[in-house]
Amino acid sequence: VAPIALADWHRQDAQIMGTTVLVQAWHKDAAVARAGIDAVIRDMHRIDALMSTYKADSELSRLNAQAAHHPVRASEELFSLISRALEFSELSGGAFDVTYASVGYRYDYRQGIRPDDRTREALLPGIDFRHVILDREQGTIAYRREGVRIDLGGIAKGYAVERGAAILRKHGIEHGQVGAGGDTRLLGDRRGRPWVVGIRDPRDRDRMVAQLPLVDEAISTSGDYERYFEEDGHRYHHIIDPGTGTSARGVRSVSVIGPDATLTDALSTGVFVLGATDGLELINRLPDVEAVIVDDEGRLWFSSGLDMQQP
Ligand code: ADP
Ligand code: MG
Ligand code: MG
Repeated sequence: VAPIALADWHRQDAQIMGTTVLVQAWHKDAAVARAGIDAVIRDMHRIDALMSTYKADSELSRLNAQAAHHPVRASEELFSLISRALEFSELSGGAFDVTYASVGYRYDYRQGIRPDDRTREALLPGIDFRHVILDREQGTIAYRREGVRIDLGGIAKGYAVERGAAILRKHGIEHGQVGAGGDTRLLGDRRGRPWVVGIRDPRDRDRMVAQLPLVDEAISTSGDYERYFEEDGHRYHHIIDPGTGTSARGVRSVSVIGPDATLTDALSTGVFVLGATDGLELINRLPDVEAVIVDDEGRLWFSSGLDMQQP
């Protein structure tokens, strides 16, 4: 995709939430565009400080440390994102499950570290979204047992970019884009043209397997090629099958397109775990949601609303 060289486009990138954030906005008044972009980036830092599990003093880290011992009062924002995450667990039959982290925290993809089989099996009972008890009246969260951990890495970036698009809109910006890693929220069109989002070949970063023209939509991609290491011919990547506590098998990437980035983020991760057949069955049941999947033999699968051909 050619870089946007039109006048009145403004862009800024930043490193937040362990990934590259990119905000673009179109506005006649450069000061308006700048203010909008800055507000989005500030908001993302705020969300990261609240929800990162890499920060011991984040609200989520404190929840993980205490919720097995007593109910913990949570901010409205953390409460409602965890509540949504649990809804996606129900919807996906447990494929999307933020308690994956009960085992998942023992993986370090940068350093090639994973739990041995015995440790993994010992920690596995901690994975189950039904261990998480939300008390709406009290605004508290509790875990039913010890060893349960939540990580919002599969949904928080989508949430953040969805908020980012809303912030741009509040600033009077109608055309823009907020992306964080694999999650992108497009605001409006690209001034009279659709945005064109490429879906990368999971085994060749210079090749695209599809190009999607999109207007005012969210797209999230979950892949096995960004965060992984190889050991004994096995690829260990960051999407965990809650049933086994180890990397999900069967597909290489899943892209989900829909009206809300929180939804597309959670679904891309959940569908990755479900695999092509069950995953597309879920996508095809949902209104206004489409998906493109690359399976482990490089074949492309499309949801029923996409009439696509391989380029
Ligand atoms: P990206 O990190 O590129 O946005 P995803 O949206 O697929 O990609 O998120 C992957 C992250 O989701 C992992 O790094 C981990 O934090 C989290 N995760 C892994 N497995 C699961 C799962 N089964 N359910 C929910 N979240 C998961
Ligand atoms: Mg996701
Ligand atoms: Mg994501």
